[in-house]
Amino acid sequence: MSRVTNFSAGPAALPLEVLEQARAEIPDWQDSGMSVMEVSHRSKAFIAIAETAEADVRELMGISDNYSVMFLQGGATMQFALLPMNLSQPGDTIDCLLTGTWSKKAFMEARAVRNARIVADGENSAYTDVPARESWQLESGAAYFHYTPNETIGGVEIHQPPVVGDVPLVADMSSTIMSRPVDVDKFAVIYAGAQKNIGPAGLTLVIMRRDLLDCAPADLPNIMRYKSHADGGSMLNTPPTFAWYLSGLVFKWLKEQGGLTVIGERNRRKAELLYGAIDASSFYTNPVAESCRSWMNVPFTLARPELDGEFLKLAEQEGLMNLKGHRSVGGIRASIYNAMPEQGVQALVDFMAEFERTNT
Ligand SMILES: *Cc1c(COP(=O)(O)O)cnc(C)c1O
Repeated sequence: MSRVTNFSAGPAALPLEVLEQARAEIPDWQDSGMSVMEVSHRSKAFIAIAETAEADVRELMGISDNYSVMFLQGGATMQFALLPMNLSQPGDTIDCLLTGTWSKKAFMEARAVRNARIVADGENSAYTDVPARESWQLESGAAYFHYTPNETIGGVEIHQPPVVGDVPLVADMSSTIMSRPVDVDKFAVIYAGAQKNIGPAGLTLVIMRRDLLDCAPADLPNIMRYKSHADGGSMLNTPPTFAWYLSGLVFKWLKEQGGLTVIGERNRRKAELLYGAIDASSFYTNPVAESCRSWMNVPFTLARPELDGEFLKLAEQEGLMNLKGHRSVGGIRASIYNAMPEQGVQALVDFMAEFERTNT
C-alpha cells in the first residue's frame, strides 16, 4: 500500500488509523456478521454509535447542555437556506459579513428568504483582508449575524469570534471546525459540512443554542425544521450512517491525539512552517493580510505563474497531491487540516525550496 500526502481542500484527507480501523471492521462489524452500512439506523448498535459520536463532539468542543448537537444532511449549503428559514420571521433582517466566496453564497441564500444585508464587504481588498471592525454597519435588531470564520478558497480566517452585541452569532465553520479550541458559548449556531475536517461527505454538524429551536415560523415543513431534527435525534429520516460512523472514529482519533488543545498547537506549528517558508522566499507569495491568514487553507502564487503546471506536476511525482488552487483563483492551495501530519507540511516546504532553487 502506498499513501500520498493529500492537500485536498474537500473532501479531504482522513487519518490513516481511522481508515484502517474502518477497513478492518467493514465485513464484520462488532461481531454482527454485517457491515455498519447494512444495519438499521434504529438498531441498538447504531444508536450507540450515534450517541457516542454526539458525546465525543460535546467533550472535544466543550459544548454545554444549552446546545443541541445535530447530525444532518445537505451540507453547509443546505444550512445557508435553513438558517434564515428557521431563525427569522418574514420582515426580519439578517446581518452578513462578506469575506469571500462562501460567506457570499450564504448571504445570497439568506437574501432569497429574508431581508439579508451586508454588514461589511472585503471586496475592496479582493478578499485578502477582513474589513476593520469599526467599519461594520450592524443592525441592532437583526435576527442573527452570519459570518464564515474560515474562507476555504481565499484562505482568510477570522481568528476570534466577532463581538456583535446581543445579536445571535452564526458561524459556518466547515473548514475550521475542531482545528483548535473555541468558546462555543459565544455562538448561537456553529455548523459545518463534515468533508473538510471531520469525516466523509454527506454529514453536516449543526450545534444550535436550544432556545433558538423554537423560533421557526409555524408554516415550515417538518423536514426543514431544526427543532424536529433535534427532537428526533437527527433521525427524522435515514441518516448517512456510514459517514456518521466514520466521523465517530475521527472524534475518537482526535481524543487520542490529546483533544483540540494539542491539535490546535499542532495546526499552529504547521501553519507557521508553511507561511514561514512562503514569507522567506521572493518566489512564493501568500496574498492574505497576516492577521487573518488561515491555519487550514494556504493559497499561494509563484512569482512566475507560467510555472504553476510544472510545480504541480513535479509535486505529484513526489506524492504531494491536490495542490492546485481553486478554479476561481488559480495558483496553488495547500489545505492542511487536522489529518495532515507535520511531516506532510515539511515535505511540501522541502519540495518548494528545491523547486525554487532549480527555477531561479
Ligand atoms: C466546502 C464549504 C461549504 C460547502 O459545503 P457543502 O457541504 O458542499 O455544502 C460551505 N462553506 C465553507 C466554508 C466550505 O468550506
